[in-house]
Amino acid sequence: MRTIGLMGGMSWESTAVYYRRINENVRDQLGGLHSAEVILHSVNFESIVALQQAGDWDRAGARLAQVARHLEAAGADCVLICTNTMHKLADIVQEAISIPLLHITDMTGAAVKTAGCRRPLLLATRYTMEQDFYLSRMREAHGLEPMVPHEADRIAVHDIIFGELCRGVVQHSSRQRYLEVIATAKAAGADSVILGCTEIGLLLDADHFDLPAFDSTLIHADAAVAFALGKYDHPQSRAA
Ligand code: GLU
Repeated sequence: MRTIGLMGGMSWESTAVYYRRINENVRDQLGGLHSAEVILHSVNFESIVALQQAGDWDRAGARLAQVARHLEAAGADCVLICTNTMHKLADIVQEAISIPLLHITDMTGAAVKTAGCRRPLLLATRYTMEQDFYLSRMREAHGLEPMVPHEADRIAVHDIIFGELCRGVVQHSSRQRYLEVIATAKAAGADSVILGCTEIGLLLDADHFDLPAFDSTLIHADAAVAFALGKYDHPQSRAA
């Protein structure tokens, strides 16, 4: 079994979901007492948020590259950045290591496309919804036409992520607010919903609304297991 390297702590609330999902998936596939080989480097999220808010993406990239190098040196065979937002820095991280980075946008985009959906609503942080790194990859690499909420809704979605979900707070009123955002997007033509922030699954799942849901956390974790069990070969590991 290959060893999964997790860059976690962004926030740890969702990293815990990754850890559980990865191990449950391995157990389901291999049975018995099988569990995953995992190395976790969990950062202090406060320091990362400070860099995000300052727009200091260079230092954030240097920090994440350092974490990825630690994971590689410790024996990881792949690396996952356990947050959508910090995939803004995915190229910097990949350049710092010789093992593959399993990219959350690619795994999620492929799942949307395979399901036959084309116009997903992207729910995520404002960084992810408003900057181009995620949306352009969805368009160009996966042929999707992602939609984002209008500004007031983007602010609400973002504030609930950082003010509540990343602190372990899950509120019915916030779930209702997200459902309003989804209903608006559905009326505007969305055919599916990407939970494009790793904490949103704490608040919402497919049972809460009537569009196909793509939870980036679960999709990413499952991709890691497929890689670990040799069922998915990243292009970079084939080249190596
Ligand atoms: N975990 C979140 C995400 O998937 C947000 C935290 C962060 O800014 O990294 O985007």
